[in-house]
Amino acid sequence: MHNDIREVLYSEQQIQEKVKEMGEMISRDFEGRNPLVICVLKGAFIFMADLVKQIAVPLEIDFMAVSSYGVSTKSSGVVKIIKDLDVPVEGRNVLIIEDIIDSGLTLSYLIDVLERRNARSVTVAALFDKPARRTAELDADYKGFVLPDEFVVGYGLDYAEKYRNLPYIGILKPEIYTK
Ligand code: 5GP
Ligand code: MG
Ligand code: MG
Repeated sequence: MHNDIREVLYSEQQIQEKVKEMGEMISRDFEGRNPLVICVLKGAFIFMADLVKQIAVPLEIDFMAVSSYGVSTKSSGVVKIIKDLDVPVEGRNVLIIEDIIDSGLTLSYLIDVLERRNARSVTVAALFDKPARRTAELDADYKGFVLPDEFVVGYGLDYAEKYRNLPYIGILKPEIYTK
């Protein structure tokens, strides 16, 4: 285990099993609907890569980057598109891939943007959910693990751009982000 990690919440293997289950559900539900799968950068990049391998229907992928946290551990509440999609979403069955839902502000903003661009349907898959701090009224259609109200890193999620490469999800030692 990495020295800055206080506790591993879910191991690499537990995550892989969950991602496989989610992929199977998505495959069933999207039969014949060829989704446009949108990765919300950067945090969802590993989840997206693992998840699409478990989805059996034809699909396309695209990427979007939004700002939310900067280097702090709390949402600013201000969402800005840093990188937009390359393809139009009009008429598409969009599947948004998010790493974690915390306040829900980022996702509710994104859903709104995609609906205003006339996506045919907007569905959300999030690997992690922290319902304790939700301020926006919203839930994921496909959800992996419900987490306690702790700041987590690994499996794509960072603190100040570090720890994204850890294959598990864990809680950082508090002294790492309070010093
Ligand atoms: P929200 O808008 O739902 O508050 O969260 C937006 C984004 O903040 C998430 O997609 C994720 O990238 C980041 N975030 C939320 N909670 C955590 C956390 O516990 N750890 C890390 N590393 N990022 C988080
Ligand atoms: Mg994210
Ligand atoms: Mg981050």
